[in-house]
Amino acid sequence: MAAGRHVAIIGAGAVGVISAIEALREGHRVTLIDPGEPGGEQAASYGNAGWLSSHSVIPPAEPGIWKKVPGYLMDPLGPLAIRWSYLPKALPWLIKYLLSGWTAARVETTAFALRGLLKDAPLLHRKLAEEAGVPELIERNGVMHVFPSRGNFDNDLGWRLRKKVGVEWLELSADEMRQREPDLHPRYTFGVVVEEAGRCRDPGAYVAALANHAIAGGAKHVRAKATGLRLDGDKLMAVLTENGEIPCDAAVVAAGARSKQLTASVGDSLPLETERGYHVMIENPETGPRSSMMASDAKMVVNWTNKGLRAAGTVEIAGLEAAPNWKRAEILRDHLFSMFPKLPRDIPAARIKTWFGHRPSMPDGRPCIGYARRSRDIVYAFGHGHVGLVGSARTGRLVAQLLGGKTPEIPLGPFAPERFL
Ligand SMILES: Cc1cc2nc3c(=O)[nH]c(=O)nc-3n(C[C@H](O)[C@H](O)[C@H](O)COP(=O)(O)OP(=O)(O)OC[C@H]3O[C@@H](n4cnc5c(N)ncnc54)[C@H](O)[C@@H]3O)c2cc1C
Repeated sequence: MAAGRHVAIIGAGAVGVISAIEALREGHRVTLIDPGEPGGEQAASYGNAGWLSSHSVIPPAEPGIWKKVPGYLMDPLGPLAIRWSYLPKALPWLIKYLLSGWTAARVETTAFALRGLLKDAPLLHRKLAEEAGVPELIERNGVMHVFPSRGNFDNDLGWRLRKKVGVEWLELSADEMRQREPDLHPRYTFGVVVEEAGRCRDPGAYVAALANHAIAGGAKHVRAKATGLRLDGDKLMAVLTENGEIPCDAAVVAAGARSKQLTASVGDSLPLETERGYHVMIENPETGPRSSMMASDAKMVVNWTNKGLRAAGTVEIAGLEAAPNWKRAEILRDHLFSMFPKLPRDIPAARIKTWFGHRPSMPDGRPCIGYARRSRDIVYAFGHGHVGLVGSARTGRLVAQLLGGKTPEIPLGPFAPERFL
């Protein structure tokens, strides 16, 4: 497959825009197709926590998680909630999700695969940000995990596996943590700092800047919703959109949680589900953490962004169309108040912003990166779940390598769409 092809990239989230930059670098002509603004609020890439955590290699499902499913169904405000009305539709995905984490060995396979995808991601993002003229949006100064006790950390399979895949960290006693984080609630008595990790100070602005950089480099943005792909035998002819066809030589499906219909149009039925997530953001907060941190009990990340202090996380399984349950964002706000008691409870509502969006999630926690079954003109790049911002940098490079028929820089077996087909 030669360079210089016309590549249509469906979706201008983090994965789509970085794929566009890398495809341009390889000499392709690029059209980005997205009805929305790149980096806009419709995309998961806008409202995520902004962690560039190259150590986030543990998939969401771990051994024994099935025991918690009744709780997920009973508590609509828990860290993982499944809406009853959506259960029948979610069931096939949920079964695959539970099975993928059934044994420690399966989780370990995913951890090694994700490590390959995420390693060096903060550096890759920093280089992209420099290229796009927004270096200040990517910081490489580590992140902190805080735990109520050392036992919570010691008993966690995830940290044992992180060690195995080569992640290193610094452990903090209660006193050391207090020195670093004087305003954090004293119930947190143990901390871990992962110095290799980084963070993004405004994920939406970062994606918008990358899209502008791609456009300055020759990419075209067509505002349209793609509805399918048209093949003639194994040759791609066009991307179908609500506004007509866009003829092209190759296409990349990077439409996040809405990629399923597109792959189905060429016969690939893939188990993509949305793990809905929320954020709450306090503008000009009176206090907060010194570092970017994840609280193990609240299952949320607290990160400073250029727009304010953002707390993001938790999972709700309720499909793409159901209305948001804003009480879930209120829970994040209350966790934030409880983590930082000096934050006043009477912050005016105008200073508190909420958002909800869709993580594009495969049941085994690994994205789909590879060719469509019927044509090597179609490359899939979606399903990054909880690690789509950090994982987008290497994914974009892999997409460009696949478009050019080159050997990918990491083994793509664990990410092959065929694992579900
Ligand atoms: C609360 C929360 C916190 C998170 N925290 C982190 C974090 O700290 N670090 C991290 O790495 N990841 C995090 N994630 C995950 C991360 O945000 C996602 O994995 C990532 O943004 C997915 O990027 P994407 O480009 O695949 O999809 P998206 O960003 O969702 O972009 C998809 C784009 O496709 C477009 N589109 C959809 N359908 C069509 C169509 N038919 N035709 C054309 N265009 C279409 C959409 O308009 C959208 O712009 C978090 C997610 C959430 C929800």
